[in-house]
Amino acid sequence: AKANGKACYQVFEPTMHQRAFTSLQLETDLRKALVRDEFITHYQPIISLTTNQIVGFEALARWVHPEQGLIPPGKFIPIAEETGLIMAIDLCIMRQACRQLLVWQDEGLVAQSLTMSVNLSVKHFMSFDLLEQIDNILQETGIQGQNLRLEITESDIMGNAEFASKIIEQLQNRHIQLSIDDFGTGYSSLSYLHRLPIDRLKIDRSFVMRIGEHGENTEIIRAIVALANSLGLGTTAEGVETPEQLAQIKALNCEFGQGYLFSKPLDAEATRKVLEHG
Ligand code: C2E
Ligand code: CA
Ligand code: CA
Ligand code: CA
Repeated sequence: AKANGKACYQVFEPTMHQRAFTSLQLETDLRKALVRDEFITHYQPIISLTTNQIVGFEALARWVHPEQGLIPPGKFIPIAEETGLIMAIDLCIMRQACRQLLVWQDEGLVAQSLTMSVNLSVKHFMSFDLLEQIDNILQETGIQGQNLRLEITESDIMGNAEFASKIIEQLQNRHIQLSIDDFGTGYSSLSYLHRLPIDRLKIDRSFVMRIGEHGENTEIIRAIVALANSLGLGTTAEGVETPEQLAQIKALNCEFGQGYLFSKPLDAEATRKVLEHG
């Protein structure tokens, strides 16, 4: 039996075996992490390029792993999506972010109009439970619908525009706003844009990053801004890292900016210091 076992074992490439083990381990760890409350939220400001004021924050998930320390979402979101655990994680971040916003509002650290953006995965967005869950969080935290903004990627809603528009209508009734994330990277049929009550496009970092290098990136951003303007939508340039990129997106009439040039995503304490000291 031992010899057999060994032969069997050799069928697997070590890396394959390792990978299978790792993702299973990751799933187990993610379940534990939810129970143990190991997810925290980092906040990255979104800046008005006309007033230079912070008009919102994007809430970004971080996993404080007991052994491995801070794990970025790129390492666990894919598995969380595969296993359906993403819904619980999304809600956990939404709840934390709404609670935090209320604290900052109560302390007078942010304008009443400031919005908190949270990311939602497609599975979640397209689930019937979403509205009830959001209502619960709004009620429990005391946040107004108009202070909450949801970010979803364009490919996510394309699959089922019918259903999406019903949900979006319900979100609109609550004055919850909606941004299309990573705009420009999906396989776009742009028809959904005017059919769905979306109010902002986030221009993907990949275009902003190479804005000075290739003429076509500038032209893509120009085209996105023109499209957004003609549909009455706002635009946010993601991943602004340099003063040159800032100058360019301003020249292209982007309305909002987000990126390391303004601030990296920070934990609640560090964000509070930014709010307190300007
Ligand atoms: P995203 O929604 O496109 O978020 C922006 C990402 O770009 C963040 O990465 C942010 O830290 C990073 N970033 C912002 N400014 C700059 C910059 O100037 N330069 C560079 N190089 N990067 C910048 P992060 O926090 O690692 O998140 C990665 C992705 O994970 C997010 O991309 C989002 O798709 C997903 N994600 C994060 N939190 C959640 C969540 O709570 N739920 C869901 N479903 N997805 C989440
Ligand atoms: Ca986002
Ligand atoms: Ca994005
Ligand atoms: Ca992205």
